[in-house]
Amino acid sequence: MQALVRTREGAALVSRARPNLPAKPGWARVRLLVAGLCRTDVYAARGDLPCAPATVLGHEAAGVIVAFSDGSSPGPAHAAALADGTLVAFHPYVGCEACAACHAGNPHRCDEARMLGLGRDGVFAEEVVVPIAACVPLPGVHDPRVAAFLEPYAAALAVAGIDVPRSARVLVLGAGRIATLCAQVLSHEGFLHVTCTDRPPAGESYDVGVETRADEEALDALARTVRPGGTLVLKSRPATRVAVSLGLWAQRDLRVQGVSYAPFELAAARLAAGHFDVTPWLGALHSFESFRDVLLGAGPDAAQDSSEHGGKPLLACSPPACAA
Ligand SMILES: [Zn+2]
Ligand SMILES: [Zn+2]
Repeated sequence: MQALVRTREGAALVSRARPNLPAKPGWARVRLLVAGLCRTDVYAARGDLPCAPATVLGHEAAGVIVAFSDGSSPGPAHAAALADGTLVAFHPYVGCEACAACHAGNPHRCDEARMLGLGRDGVFAEEVVVPIAACVPLPGVHDPRVAAFLEPYAAALAVAGIDVPRSARVLVLGAGRIATLCAQVLSHEGFLHVTCTDRPPAGESYDVGVETRADEEALDALARTVRPGGTLVLKSRPATRVAVSLGLWAQRDLRVQGVSYAPFELAAARLAAGHFDVTPWLGALHSFESFRDVLLGAGPDAAQDSSEHGGKPLLACSPPACAA
């Protein structure tokens, strides 16, 4: 199969054997249809995040389950997905599957969590093998581009899960896709006062400040713009350590909340119900060759900021099936 893998120079298109199902229950082989490019993939290709050579890149995708490993006992939703070709997307983290976080469906909180396309083979390929639990069926979604948007949507929806009233004044700091997507999702989830800008308005004060690009300057600006006792939401996951003004945060009695993902089942139900229209965020479908060029040509923010130029770049993993 074709796959885009990490190399010392960045990323290369290779032909490699299809991944094998492990000889233990609980795993699924998925034929991939569409994958999306994310800032994390650019970090991985650039070496900003640790990613072993030959790792298949990518973590956002949709596909169809084609097989389970021997002895698997999938639940009804996954069994139906195999039987009728329901689209599935992925929780991008694979955990130990034994700890409390994994059992609760939060493998990103697992001590052994490894991310698709970073710590283990990802989805810029024709097939992937993942735990059945990592597959999120999306009955009712028929466009694999929409299904592939589940992960960024679940990440944006996480911000709406913070414990503040809908009447809170919220500032989303940033101008890229993550910022505008978060702001739209917050408004859509009923937040009444949402401002999205990359420059905090002078003289304004907010109950909640959401960072979408964790650099020192932005975090300081946000900490000064959020009212004392307000909430600072850490949304982005920077590739490197960031210096922060802890004294300022403490002095202003800020509550700091990291957010990773909303429950994937909730996000999937929202997408399946057509509750939030993701189509404006979808970009052009690329072949493996041109997608590699997009990936290598992207600066650290290009995967995020390309929304102004037509949405998230997408990879057609299995071209014949993408017409569906
Ligand atoms: Zn992503
Ligand atoms: Zn675990």
